[in-house]
Amino acid sequence: MIIVLFGPPGAGKGTQADLLKGELHLHHLSTGDILREEVGNGSELGLLAKKFIAAGELVTDKLIMGMIKNKIVSNGENSDFLFDGFPRTTSQAEALDEMLEENSLKIDKVISLEVEDDDLIERLLLRGRSDDNKQTITNRLKVYKNQTLPIKDYYAKSKLLIKIKGNDSIEEVFNNIIKSI
Ligand code: AMP
Repeated sequence: MIIVLFGPPGAGKGTQADLLKGELHLHHLSTGDILREEVGNGSELGLLAKKFIAAGELVTDKLIMGMIKNKIVSNGENSDFLFDGFPRTTSQAEALDEMLEENSLKIDKVISLEVEDDDLIERLLLRGRSDDNKQTITNRLKVYKNQTLPIKDYYAKSKLLIKIKGNDSIEEVFNNIIKSI
C-alpha cells in the first residue's frame, strides 16, 4: 500500500505518520526528516538544503526526487510506503506518479489533514524546531499555499484525496484516517 500524508506545516503529519506506520506496516519516508538528518551529517545534500530549510523555502525538486529515488531503491522489493511532507509541488507529484508507474505501482490514498492557519501557527510555535520561528513559519505557510496547495486539486481529480479534520485529538484523527482507508 502507498499512502501520501498531505497537509500544511503543523497539521500533525509527523505525529500521525508515527502511528500509521506501526498500524499499517508502511515504510515511513519524511523528506523533512531525511533532509534534517543530512544537515546533521554535514553531507553535500545537507549543505545544499540547509539554507532553504532555514528560510522556509522548498529544496529543489531535482534534489528531492533524487533523494526519494534512492530511498525507494534501497527499500528493495518492499513497496509499502507512507510519504510525509512529499510531494510538495505539482512537479514532484507528477514525477512520483511516473516513478511509481515505471515500477507498476500507484498511490492508494492521499490523506489531507485539514487545520486552520491560526491553529497551525500556535502548534508550530509550541513545537520549537529551529525553523519554527515566527518569520520562517510565516514564509512556510505562504510557500505551502503557493506551491503545495495546488497538489490537492491534482489528487482530487484522480479521486485519491480524502479530507480529514486535523484539529480533533491525536487519537480521533488517527481513528478517522484508519476508517477512511
Ligand atoms: P518538514 O519537516 O516537512 O516541515 O520540512 C522542513 C523543510 O524541509 C521545508 O520547509 C523545506 O525547506 C524542506 N522540505 C521538506 N520536504 C520537502 C519537499 N518535498 N520538497 C522541497 N522541500 C522540502
